[in-house]
Amino acid sequence: MDITAAVLDEAGGPFVLKQVELAAPGPDEVLVELHATGLCHTDVAVQHGFTPFPLPGVLGHEGSGVVAAVGPGVAGLAEGDHVALSFSSCGACGNCRSGVPSYCDTFVARNLLGARADGSRPLTLDGKGLGSNFFGQSSFASHTVAHARSVVKIPEQVPLALAAPLGCGVQTGAGAVLKSLRAQAGSSVLVLGGGSVGLSAVMGAVLAGAETIVVVEPVESRRLVAKDLGATHVLDPADGKLAEQIRGVVPQGVRHAVDTTAKAAVLTEVVQAMAKRGSIALLGIPSEPAAVFPLSLGLSQILGLTVVGVVEGDSDPQTFVPWLLQQYLQGRFPIDRLVRTMPFADINEAVAAQVRGDVIKAVLTHR
Ligand SMILES: [Zn+2]
Ligand SMILES: [Zn+2]
Repeated sequence: MDITAAVLDEAGGPFVLKQVELAAPGPDEVLVELHATGLCHTDVAVQHGFTPFPLPGVLGHEGSGVVAAVGPGVAGLAEGDHVALSFSSCGACGNCRSGVPSYCDTFVARNLLGARADGSRPLTLDGKGLGSNFFGQSSFASHTVAHARSVVKIPEQVPLALAAPLGCGVQTGAGAVLKSLRAQAGSSVLVLGGGSVGLSAVMGAVLAGAETIVVVEPVESRRLVAKDLGATHVLDPADGKLAEQIRGVVPQGVRHAVDTTAKAAVLTEVVQAMAKRGSIALLGIPSEPAAVFPLSLGLSQILGLTVVGVVEGDSDPQTFVPWLLQQYLQGRFPIDRLVRTMPFADINEAVAAQVRGDVIKAVLTHR
């Protein structure tokens, strides 16, 4: 079928809306009429060439919409279901069977190589294959064909535009606190960066019952939103040495830290602000592929420090996304505070606004 998609022709270029061809859903695939797609930092990282992806191609990996058709072998999904889209996984390898599919043996092939797991491409333009299946979906488009494991059925009471970011940014931040770090009630949580992932970590820390939630963020408007969402303290990195600022709030050091900055200079300060037996979750995408985590071998032992790299909040979208949406419906997870909807045609403007920090989570609407 002919669909509209935002095609990225080359790294550094703009997204251009074009008519492209989408294949019919094959075995274990679902055709979704998209209603909204969140704009995630990873889309911008590919656009800027920090993260490789076959181009020309179609990005977008926080889609939501309505099931239009299911391919052979799809169970538990039917035409008309409201769905949110997340990353793809095989469902059969050890990590998938252990409930941590973001470490699937075939994660890279299914999400980042621009094709289905068998190498074929559902999206074509003038007969040539486009980079497709970005995070199993390529949802900067009016429609997509996604693997069934990327498709999560959601309650119809949830507005589709709010459900879109759950599949990546929101589950990443909330999952880092609730699943990767397993923050306990009464603990202290430090969040570096107040973008959509960091603020989702704040909402996760509130759900965990953390007593002290400290957010470090240079943009004042984002610090104010962090306070609204439940941060007990907000810090501006321009106000002085970060480790001293954090120790000023939590003299004994913080128990948990969630880093969304991927900046060595920030992490050096964070290590000096950790409590004994503390743990640090690394979520950010480094702008330099060879970036390293600066860690003193002696200090890491004295602190008994744990450092964990995190993909997608260690979440299983099929269970975690519906659970987070239940928290939203019960008024305990106010994702609406992060979202600003914009028409799909304004995708380049949305990218610019989010990069500037004017918008926390741009969600592009398709209809
Ligand atoms: Zn797997
Ligand atoms: Zn993402």
